[in-house]
Amino acid sequence: MKFKWFQNKLTFVIIPEANGSVVRVKLSRAVLWGAVFALLLLVGTSCFIYVQQMQSAASSYLRTTELHGKAAKLEQDLKHKNEAIEQLKNEIFTLSKQAAEVGSKMEEITRLRQDLLKLSPGSGSADQAVSAASPETPPASKAGGVGGPEIPVTAEQVRALASSTGARYTELAAEMNRLSASFVESKKQLLAQQERQKHIPSLWPTLSKHVTSPYGYRRDPFTSKLSFHKGMDIAGKLNDPVYAAAGGIVHSVGYDKLHGHNVVLEHSSGIRTWYMHLNQAEVDTGERVVKGQRIGKLGTTGRSTGPHLHYEVLRNGKSTDPAPYLPSHSRKDVK
Ligand SMILES: [Zn+2]
Repeated sequence: MKFKWFQNKLTFVIIPEANGSVVRVKLSRAVLWGAVFALLLLVGTSCFIYVQQMQSAASSYLRTTELHGKAAKLEQDLKHKNEAIEQLKNEIFTLSKQAAEVGSKMEEITRLRQDLLKLSPGSGSADQAVSAASPETPPASKAGGVGGPEIPVTAEQVRALASSTGARYTELAAEMNRLSASFVESKKQLLAQQERQKHIPSLWPTLSKHVTSPYGYRRDPFTSKLSFHKGMDIAGKLNDPVYAAAGGIVHSVGYDKLHGHNVVLEHSSGIRTWYMHLNQAEVDTGERVVKGQRIGKLGTTGRSTGPHLHYEVLRNGKSTDPAPYLPSHSRKDVK
């Protein structure tokens, strides 16, 4: 009975609008259901494919969005890194300029030191530790305007600048050490020079600078015979102060008919000074005296015609002319 239902045929009548002939289509129920089933299958498959494609498109869209996000972040990172590199380049450039400035300052200090050594007496050839400084390059100035095309520097150029700047700083550090050592040496030399200067009889021993009889041949004031005068006679008032011409130790204090009251001072390097015809000695043997210290009063004791100081300078026991040691002006000129 059921099978028969499937075999039953259905007739579809298609009636055209105008005068056409009527079309009859006979279909069995089985064919009809088959067609319906095939249609449903087609629609189902299409839907499935459509959903699959939609999903694929959505996931592709998500991936693209994610990649865009990553690309933007990387771009941002790159920008920051480029900025940092630019800043480092500027810092290297600034450091290289500073190294050049420090270098020229060092040269200036070296020249200054050489000038100082030239000024110090007797130290003309002392400077050999430091090489002669090269002429200074004038610093660049923007006052007159600057310009020209902008040529970007390459990484290689920046590396070379950083490397040469580093090398220059190393050189400067070594130069500073050399300079520092030579300054210590110069200070020693100057102190030694200063110490020697204290023991050179370069100070007038009297207030007066009126030389009545210089060192050398003369007619003797008592006998008028030609004789040799081993010192310098400086006129002065009775009891005028007599000063130590240099620092040292009192070698002797004495009196005799020829020299009157007299004082001998011992300085360094075999130099002695002898002060004669004093009215009074004001120091004792063995006493240490400093340059310019009062050692007695001017007088006319011994073989003397009037108040004066007979002043002698002895080198290794031999009298020598005191005049070359003395400044030609005030006794306060030389300390
Ligand atoms: Zn004399």
